[in-house]
Amino acid sequence: MVCIMIPERFSTRVLHLNCRHCQTIFTERGMKAKLVAQPGTFRYSTDVRPYNCALIEPACSENASNILNKTCACFAQEVGCLGCGTIVGYFIVHPCSTCNTRSTNGHLWVFYLDNIEEIFRLKANGRDYIHWDQLDDEVNCKNQCLDSDMVIR
Ligand SMILES: [Zn+2]
Ligand SMILES: [Zn+2]
Repeated sequence: MVCIMIPERFSTRVLHLNCRHCQTIFTERGMKAKLVAQPGTFRYSTDVRPYNCALIEPACSENASNILNKTCACFAQEVGCLGCGTIVGYFIVHPCSTCNTRSTNGHLWVFYLDNIEEIFRLKANGRDYIHWDQLDDEVNCKNQCLDSDMVIR
């Protein structure tokens, strides 16, 4: 139940996601969507490694699965905010076969609603929202500069 469902036709708006506790920015490519196995539960997700986040090594695997309250075989690691140290979400290291066969959005970085401040991302004109189906060019660029944390556009 850790994977995120694909929203209606990627028509959802793109979000800036910041830490609610210290306002550190995590990503400018955020999406709000439901969990695959729990459609009543919303979380934020992104497809590119977020800024200012650290993966937290689980003390033991049993512990990690308890924290994430998992009911499927996805392997996930918790993600902490580098600004304030709060556990803000998780990274899906290996999606399980159950989740993979369903309609996930393919995003592996997930944030809990409680820890996130969302801001709608706007076009250069400062008025119109940007939607996910308008981000194709940016994905290609990001994939070419995976090793770089700073991508200027
Ligand atoms: Zn799974
Ligand atoms: Zn923080």
